[in-house]
Amino acid sequence: MIFNEKFECMDRGQLRALQGERLRDAACRAYENVPLYKKLFAEKGVTPDDIQSIDDITKLPFTVKDDFRDAYPFNMFAVPQREIVRVHASSGTTGKPTVVGYTRRDIALWAETCARTLGCGGGTPEDVVQIAYGYGLFTGGLGMHNGGEALGAMVIPMSGGNSKKQLMLMQDFGTTLLCCTPSYSLLLAEVAEEEGIDFKQLKLKTGFFGAEPWTEAMRLQIEERLNLKALDIYGLSEVIGPGVASECLEQHGLHVFEDHFYPEIINPETGEPAAPGEKGELVFTCLTKEAIPLIRYRTRDITSLEEAVCACGRTSRRMARVTGRTDDMLIIRGVNVFPSQIESVLMKVEGTEPHYLIVVDKSGAMDELEIKVEVSPEIFSDEVRQLEDLKKRINVEMASVLGLHAKITLVEPKSIERSMGKAKRVIDARDMA
Ligand SMILES: [Zn+2]
Repeated sequence: MIFNEKFECMDRGQLRALQGERLRDAACRAYENVPLYKKLFAEKGVTPDDIQSIDDITKLPFTVKDDFRDAYPFNMFAVPQREIVRVHASSGTTGKPTVVGYTRRDIALWAETCARTLGCGGGTPEDVVQIAYGYGLFTGGLGMHNGGEALGAMVIPMSGGNSKKQLMLMQDFGTTLLCCTPSYSLLLAEVAEEEGIDFKQLKLKTGFFGAEPWTEAMRLQIEERLNLKALDIYGLSEVIGPGVASECLEQHGLHVFEDHFYPEIINPETGEPAAPGEKGELVFTCLTKEAIPLIRYRTRDITSLEEAVCACGRTSRRMARVTGRTDDMLIIRGVNVFPSQIESVLMKVEGTEPHYLIVVDKSGAMDELEIKVEVSPEIFSDEVRQLEDLKKRINVEMASVLGLHAKITLVEPKSIERSMGKAKRVIDARDMA
């Protein structure tokens, strides 16, 4: 179901005109009300009057995560605090969280874009949506919750964890749409297997999986084990939360709800726009948000944009699956390595489970890359020779994809810690000494 056909299927020319008007308005609100923007605009020598069309967006300055840290807690807000009806926060790597605020209209906008997300996956008012993202300061739970209600579906506010109960409610309430992290969906699959629950007997149709990077190979696993269509969804709290972009049932890129969130791809080194279709860092401008009219925010996520109109009828540009972040790229012995590359290799090798841990450490002056891989129970009970053979196959694949040698350690089934939310897959011990 297309939740808002007028905007999701808008003629591209009309959409660009609308984006231009909205950008000028957002730039004015940011400039007039947030000291940070007055300063950044002045450094760039621009004012909101320089914005005549959406193409002028490249004249505006970038913002980054540190700007939120410096503005802690409320200095990014462009409206008086009495107009804020909700705050959320995401944990920063150091100390204080990143705080975001919403006006009443922002909350309504957010509910709509999350309802569009559910619509992208075939959701209608007939559906039963189980929210297994965490509630609280994290945006995942409440964001998709409001989206489900805006769609008119029946929402089960289950939150994360408590897997047996999740499965019981799926059976008893007839859940059709599931929202959680991709790694948690696999934990649910494991628990279901232990409990003797067959997903083929459940009514699940579509899963909306986000909040952590995952691969195509993992998608195939999830679809098979949970017997549903697994969609990649995208969002971040600085922009609004979930509901920034979503795959449709075509599963060919994530539709960006770009009448509200304008995407750009830049070269992360130079800050210059990337060529159409080229990979680079994803940048977002919030065209309509009141509390935080975010301008050219550098997400550090690496992706590309597809302009062709999708078979589903939506006209918005589609972003490719995020393949890594500019800041989660590991540099090992001078070679750039993304955790997603390692995952895609492991998914291809038979006999391994989708649970792994990447450990980078130093041995003398040399970086050491170790990959701990869970093996499937059948292989684990086999002869030593089989395990050695598996190790060898992983090694060869890994070397050809990464371009460097990794130490492969096979570990027992279910020995790597499971996550109820975002999985932690990388330990970089090089700076901890
Ligand atoms: Zn589509």
